[in-house]
Amino acid sequence: MKRFLVMLSLCACMANESNAQSDYQTDSIFIRKIFNTSLREGKSYEWLRHLTQQIGSRLSGSEGAAKAVIYTKSVMEQEQFDKVTLQNVMVPHWVRGAKEKAQIISGKQKTDVPIAALGGSVATPKGGIKAKIIEVKSFQELRDLGAEKVKGKIVFFNRPMDPTKINTFEAYAGAVEQRGMGASEAGKLGAVGAIVRSMTTRLDDVPHTGSMRYVSGAPIIPAAAITTNGAELLSKTLKANPETEFYFEQSCETLPDAPSHNVIGELKGKKDPSKYIAVGGHLDSWDFAQGAHDDGSGCVQSIEAVRILKALGYQPNNTLRAVMFMNEENGLKGGIAYADSAKSKKETHIAAIESDRGGFTPLGFGVVGTPAQKARIAQWSKLFAAYGIHEIGPGGGGADIGPLAQQGTVLLGLIPDSQRYFDYHHASNDKFEAVSKRELDLGAAAMAAMIYLIDKYGVE
Ligand SMILES: [Zn+2]
Repeated sequence: MKRFLVMLSLCACMANESNAQSDYQTDSIFIRKIFNTSLREGKSYEWLRHLTQQIGSRLSGSEGAAKAVIYTKSVMEQEQFDKVTLQNVMVPHWVRGAKEKAQIISGKQKTDVPIAALGGSVATPKGGIKAKIIEVKSFQELRDLGAEKVKGKIVFFNRPMDPTKINTFEAYAGAVEQRGMGASEAGKLGAVGAIVRSMTTRLDDVPHTGSMRYVSGAPIIPAAAITTNGAELLSKTLKANPETEFYFEQSCETLPDAPSHNVIGELKGKKDPSKYIAVGGHLDSWDFAQGAHDDGSGCVQSIEAVRILKALGYQPNNTLRAVMFMNEENGLKGGIAYADSAKSKKETHIAAIESDRGGFTPLGFGVVGTPAQKARIAQWSKLFAAYGIHEIGPGGGGADIGPLAQQGTVLLGLIPDSQRYFDYHHASNDKFEAVSKRELDLGAAAMAAMIYLIDKYGVE
């Protein structure tokens, strides 16, 4: 009897192993088909061309953003997704106004430098601000100076992104508080303006903007990003002449909130249609950028990932959704509205995948979930290894899908090579030409493969 039981369990074990083996082969063949389809007949690059070159910049509330909503809806309709809908969302509406002006003034020498108002900043008074400028590398250094030395001056935040960080997002995280909170920190000590070194790892001549916010109770002063070459020059000039002054003028303003939309295209699930797997990027971009890497790439890759599965005749168990989120850059209203709607309609999202780190060569996926969920997804690693995708685990999901965490959704972020991302981030050189078709296609295929595995096996 005992011997019989041992035999039986041995057989069951062998059957499981051979099942796993055949599943591995089936999955490996199907994932190969996904990559072949993307690399041979991928459509995302041409959609990106239209989004960036025909439509262009897409800041929330702008005409470009409205056109991008109509365009991506029409793309998913042409691809005959089962259902394409617009989801209403009210968004902040900030406008830059006339091109900014800035000068470094040392004695009789005046040198023009390129700046860009930070998103959400107020304008300078008409005619601009001219004042002495002081350089700091940290908020602590600023506080140590105290109100006496800061009052009436412009504060220049000049801590660079740490070039020794291999993951450039870590370097960004280590510097970006200057952009986000610098104006309020300076304002509290009586400063009249804030100038922030652009968030880029490179020395260049294009200002990199981004959002900032005012802390309640702190005086509201105008803030702008200066190019990294401008920051180097300003720092050098200040060392030679501590009496150096800075002049800048900007006329940006915040208008009343504007109506806009998330765009959602779906393939209905055959087995469990009320369960969802969402894949998305954000449709908005900064106002002077085509938003090719940030985040036109993520949008077209998301549509493409779903299209590829459809083209291969894949019948999903769960409903698959490509989501174009609005307003990631300066409010996240689209991501919040999407999660709120999912909650009120009881749409259970088992997983959400975001691509918002540029259209570069995919290297992995960041996963946010329980240890068991992470372990399950990591099990699929060897299916991705043939495509150069090795980092499955750490790294996080994405801002737009973040609000879904409250319903226990597993969040995944596509992780491409990060070395060049901040060359283009939030700057006028983030153009279509900066994206490689091949790299974009590989990212879309990687997302399609991940959706396929999650849809087939679940995450629990
Ligand atoms: Zn982005």
